[in-house]
Amino acid sequence: MTEKVTDLLHLFDEQKFQEDLISWFKKEQRILPWRENKDPYRVWVSEIMLQQTRVDTVIPYFERFMRLFPSIEALAEAEESDVLKAWEGLGYYSRARNLQSAVREVAESYNGIVPNHPREISGLKGVGPYTAGAILSIAYDIPEPAVDGNVMRVLSRVVGIWEDIAKPSARKTFEEVTRRIISKDDPSSFNQGMMELGAIVCTPRSPSCLLCPVQEHCRAFAEGSQEELPIKSKKKAPRPVPIAVVALEDSTGKFLIRQRPETGLLASLWEFPNVELSEGGLKQEQIKKHLRDEYEIDSEVEKELASFNHIFSHLKWQLTVYKGSYQGELASKHFKMVDKNELQNFAFPVAHQKITQLILESEG
Ligand code: SF4
Repeated sequence: MTEKVTDLLHLFDEQKFQEDLISWFKKEQRILPWRENKDPYRVWVSEIMLQQTRVDTVIPYFERFMRLFPSIEALAEAEESDVLKAWEGLGYYSRARNLQSAVREVAESYNGIVPNHPREISGLKGVGPYTAGAILSIAYDIPEPAVDGNVMRVLSRVVGIWEDIAKPSARKTFEEVTRRIISKDDPSSFNQGMMELGAIVCTPRSPSCLLCPVQEHCRAFAEGSQEELPIKSKKKAPRPVPIAVVALEDSTGKFLIRQRPETGLLASLWEFPNVELSEGGLKQEQIKKHLRDEYEIDSEVEKELASFNHIFSHLKWQLTVYKGSYQGELASKHFKMVDKNELQNFAFPVAHQKITQLILESEG
């Protein structure tokens, strides 16, 4: 253990902290579908879904996903398009794609059993240190740290860690502290207790210190610095990207959609024709030119249907949506003409789901 961590934990009563945290967790934990049992596959799926997504949002997705793909074998054998469809609306679709390829590796290389060794599990696609620690501790009772933003917040306050949690180097400190204080008898309840405490008591703003089960251990509470911790430097604002999109209808009432490339942002999802706008020039003219260059069709871009923003962690799409029409034959195979009632059978990113909705509403 480094000197820094020894200093941080000087006079910290690990044993009593574990007891207080675990007994509170056992009494107060929320009933959540992935806590019904300790099946490592269920723990894995839930942890992937919960990255960047709120518990309330995840619950119905998790339940449906488990009905559709109840086991490693079922998910390994599923069509990728069905998996993406089940994930539609959760965002960060690479999570779903990585999950399926990792599950296929488990099916092929580990006899369908999620590995319980840190090195093996960390080698699976999309399984970072947090997810590995969560599966190993929750499903297999192995005392591995599972340190995410919530846990860093709780630990920074309880132990008094004034490191910038936005810096990757801070994670090492938090993992080392956890390795030292985690319960070796019940690492599953310990890690889940830390997560639960961060979710419902030690919240980012206005933590409920007066109801907190570990208040007597908490250094931030003792010195009144709970609102100042954790230290987190600001991320850069997402880069704005102006985009024109067109809901293009042919004379038979079908809409043109295309599948995004197999790699990169929102890989393999479907979308309406769109173009990133350059400065100057009419938006309608730019999208008409794009339709000519990309799809070899002459179109009419008519009224504006809506404009809205969609924010990713690093990008902000500023979308202007048009209704358009065209006559003639399509010359490429990389897209489909789809009846408006069939649009919902395709996996679209959230921004394009909104456009589907606009079409259904405007068409009656
Ligand atoms: S006492 Fe307050 S700041 Fe400390 S762990 Fe509890 S809720 Fe968080």
